[in-house]
Amino acid sequence: MRKYKCPNNCRLPRRKKELVEKDGKWGFDYHDFTYCPVCGEMMPQTHEAVKRFFDIYHLNSKLDRAEQLIYKSEFNAAAREAFVVVETALRNKSGLDLHGVDLVNKALSYDVDKKSGQITKIPLIQLNNLITDSEKNEQEGVRFMLMGFFQGARNIFQHNKVGSGASDVLSIIIQASYFLNLLDGHSITKHGEWIRTKVDYSDIYQNMPNHIDRLKLRCILRFRNWKHKKMQSKIKDTCES
Ligand SMILES: [Zn+2]
Repeated sequence: MRKYKCPNNCRLPRRKKELVEKDGKWGFDYHDFTYCPVCGEMMPQTHEAVKRFFDIYHLNSKLDRAEQLIYKSEFNAAAREAFVVVETALRNKSGLDLHGVDLVNKALSYDVDKKSGQITKIPLIQLNNLITDSEKNEQEGVRFMLMGFFQGARNIFQHNKVGSGASDVLSIIIQASYFLNLLDGHSITKHGEWIRTKVDYSDIYQNMPNHIDRLKLRCILRFRNWKHKKMQSKIKDTCES
């Protein structure tokens, strides 16, 4: 069944049959609207697809509010929220009381001795070890990307009602998530190795109604603890011998 109905009950224009591709085959059929052509709200099938996408694409948790705004079809507000979150993270991490491009530049720039390649001034926000060329390129590249993020995209969204549609806003949110992950220490030069973030298992345990699940979680945590202790004593033995 086609979900050809705006969530705000707008009177939708009559659809005409047009050339439509389905699984590599072409024919004349109705083309479903992705957004309501009257109010701009996501149509139900678009809402579902976007939600499914974010089930797989794990947005940085600081973007939870921006994600919720997308589900409400408040696209411009979602983009503005993402810019604020990134800027706040940069300010908190660098300790600088600046904005936009100036903030990015002062927070991420570093000085390097051209002859020896040694870092002579470490950046306030260091994304990686800054030893290899890839690491230096990441730091420098992300600085340029973030400068563009604020100078280009942010300023446009801040001062105008952007009519470019939801796709652009989704790409802003994804870029924001990428930057926030880097600021959280997940540099892509670390061969995709994911840094463990601290999880509050007591909170999870309290909200676990199934007795068997609680038992399983206790066993896993006990085993993890035992493994960690074993590793620590191994390191101690190696250092002392
Ligand atoms: Zn509508």
